[in-house]
Amino acid sequence: MNSVLLIFIDGLGLGRRDSACNPLARFAPRVLNCFSDRLGPFPRAGICLPTDVQLGVPGLPQSATGQATLFTGANAAALLGKHLSGFPNGALRALIEKESVVLRLKKAGYSVSFANSYTPSFFQKRPRWVSVTTVVCESADLSFNLVEDVRAGRSLFMDYTNRFLRDRGYDVPERSPKQAAAILAHHAATFDFCFYEYFLTDWAGHQGDSEQQLQILTNLDEFLAEIVELLDLSTTSLIVTSDHGNIEETQHAKHTANRVPTILWGPIQRLVEGRTALDLTEIAPLIRASLEPGRSR
Ligand SMILES: [Zn+2]
Repeated sequence: MNSVLLIFIDGLGLGRRDSACNPLARFAPRVLNCFSDRLGPFPRAGICLPTDVQLGVPGLPQSATGQATLFTGANAAALLGKHLSGFPNGALRALIEKESVVLRLKKAGYSVSFANSYTPSFFQKRPRWVSVTTVVCESADLSFNLVEDVRAGRSLFMDYTNRFLRDRGYDVPERSPKQAAAILAHHAATFDFCFYEYFLTDWAGHQGDSEQQLQILTNLDEFLAEIVELLDLSTTSLIVTSDHGNIEETQHAKHTANRVPTILWGPIQRLVEGRTALDLTEIAPLIRASLEPGRSR
């Protein structure tokens, strides 16, 4: 039985291999070894396909439309006629509620989990604007993981090290990248489709502190390398992708128009044989095709 783990990294594009502007060029990444002029090598025969996030719509690619596209397979930017930043508006929420890959998989009988956890404040004082992944979960009636799941090692917070939670007074253990990876691999193994969202990359890109960016990326690379080691790639496909570029250009604090990496491991690679590039609308259909081998795409 095939399964899929999607790790969505916000704001990570393919930049030049130049240590003056790209923090990924300041160390030797094992997994995030992807640049506009060189892709890989990747551990365990991973492959990387540069992925277009511009999708024929002028302006810098943004999170709300990019993530709505990633999770539905529809060109959300074309639907709105522009790239929308931040949180989904009514039109994007309606799109997600109708077309989300998570909803479709659940309706088809697959078990699905969002590995991220939510703090009590989300439920006590619900934010007026919520993320694409929150709409994805609510529209498919997924249960939310909580801080106690983080404490018990059953799920991860968006900052998988737990430093963010600990700084805010939560009683949770700090996790190394390897420990966090083991938790995610274990969590993912009990579902047909599991997804995890990491957005400190985009946040750090906007902050513009190059040392902070380097630290986040070296830590994230260690986390991803351990995940790749732990998964059973004979039956589990791993997708690492992004919604738009940002952190790969440290000389400014804006998004970029660069293509993003889509790194693939496991059985899903068979579905992209002969391909040299993707666009962001293709990820959701690939997830479905990996789980439903008989389904025509
Ligand atoms: Zn951003």
